[in-house]
Amino acid sequence: MRYDLIVLGAGSGGIATANRAASYGAKVALVAAGPLGGTCVNVGCVPKKLFWNAAHLYANQTLAASYGIHREASPAFDWAGFRQRREAYIQRLQLRYQEGLQHNGVSLIAGYGRIAGPGRVQVQDGPLLHGERILIATGAEPLWPEVPGARLGSDSDDFFAWEEQPRRVAVIGAGYIAVELAGVLHALGSDVTMILRRNHFLHDFEPFLREGLMEAMERQGIGILAQRHVQRLEQGPEGLELMLQNEQRIGPFDRVLWAIGRQPRTQDIGLESIGLSTLPSGHLAVDERQETGVNGVFAIGDVTPAPALTPVAIAAGRRWADHVFGDRPLVPINHQLVPTVVFSHPPLATVGMSEEEARERYGEENVKCYQSRFTPLLRALEKDPQKTAMKLVVVGNEEKVVGLHALGDGVDEILQGFAVAIQMGACKADLDRTIAIHPTSAEELVTLR
Ligand code: NDP
Repeated sequence: MRYDLIVLGAGSGGIATANRAASYGAKVALVAAGPLGGTCVNVGCVPKKLFWNAAHLYANQTLAASYGIHREASPAFDWAGFRQRREAYIQRLQLRYQEGLQHNGVSLIAGYGRIAGPGRVQVQDGPLLHGERILIATGAEPLWPEVPGARLGSDSDDFFAWEEQPRRVAVIGAGYIAVELAGVLHALGSDVTMILRRNHFLHDFEPFLREGLMEAMERQGIGILAQRHVQRLEQGPEGLELMLQNEQRIGPFDRVLWAIGRQPRTQDIGLESIGLSTLPSGHLAVDERQETGVNGVFAIGDVTPAPALTPVAIAAGRRWADHVFGDRPLVPINHQLVPTVVFSHPPLATVGMSEEEARERYGEENVKCYQSRFTPLLRALEKDPQKTAMKLVVVGNEEKVVGLHALGDGVDEILQGFAVAIQMGACKADLDRTIAIHPTSAEELVTLR
């Protein structure tokens, strides 16, 4: 079989690229080793956000009580029933993807694909495909630590397969996944302990907000053990036990969740057959045209060093297909201005540089910050309300906005519109000129002084 394009990997990036290329008339094969939709749809963004929604609704009982809304009995969370409905929804999504691919004329080939030489992909127990171009979109997978007993724990893929809600959970790690899943589990009633190597989590995020989030999570009752290093994991008589440095033993836990990062899936995909090597991190370096060091071999998404976010992979793939098959000019992605949200409780939203990054890049004297911490009206009737925090980082005399960071109810939905303005080059005066919507939390961003 000869194709114009063979896409290796049917995650969000691979599917979007295959569809876009085929929409221009290209003959496309999409090789899918796992379920359609990859990490985001099956064990990532989508089921995680459903979990976050469930946790958000469940945790809002206390907020509702501050408005005089009381339920007779405290509601129970039906973990197994939720799992069933979640999985049924994901199956519907997969079906929709399948129909979309069919509609666009993409050949979907189920099986594990390996590059077998220039322009060739061998599908395990399947056909040998020939293509003018190969796009590697194989994504990433959870990292496991090399400590004795690690496999007694779970990774984030396993989390979505848990059949019942654990009562006591340890979450090890300090990134998006650790913070999000610790928050979800706690909000749904599990007893959660987070174990961090540093003093804080979300190391690359604006300290003003990550500190606010850490304080909020501790106040909610999540145990946070900082500056701890896990030495081993053991099965004790009452459950799992973690041995930390200095022989400190903690537990027992019903589940231990490793959330210490993800690694690109670049092993065992036949890179050696075309002489393509990876960066030390395992990622594939690509140029602005998504091309690897080998002619005709391209890569997008989590296998590249770009931010490991679904919309980044989709944008990279679609823009590449528009350029290569649609003859459109290439529109590069500005990796400095990728808006992103950590779905914590409350959520944390960020785009652009932190204050520290801006000061390093533009010089101390050229950077100014505006920030505010306030009680949102939604929580004004609570006894000890969770505050909302917002921060703008601006540079130069014109006060161009280079960073916007927010923590609080609703900031996940607020950020997108502000990201458009910042992408267009908004300055502080542009925000100031915009009439506020009152009373909202978002209005704070156009009234900061
Ligand atoms: P991250 O890379 O975000 O964070 C993992 C962190 O765990 C490290 O930064 C490190 O923090 C800590 N860590 C590493 N090794 C160890 C160890 N041995 N013991 C204890 N802690 C350790 O990884 P995630 O897996 O959370 O997420 C991967 C990527 O997926 C994210 O970067 C993001 O791009 C994407 N994602 C996006 C989401 C969203 O958009 N909402 C949600 C989930 C994932 P430190 O150095 O501080 O110890």
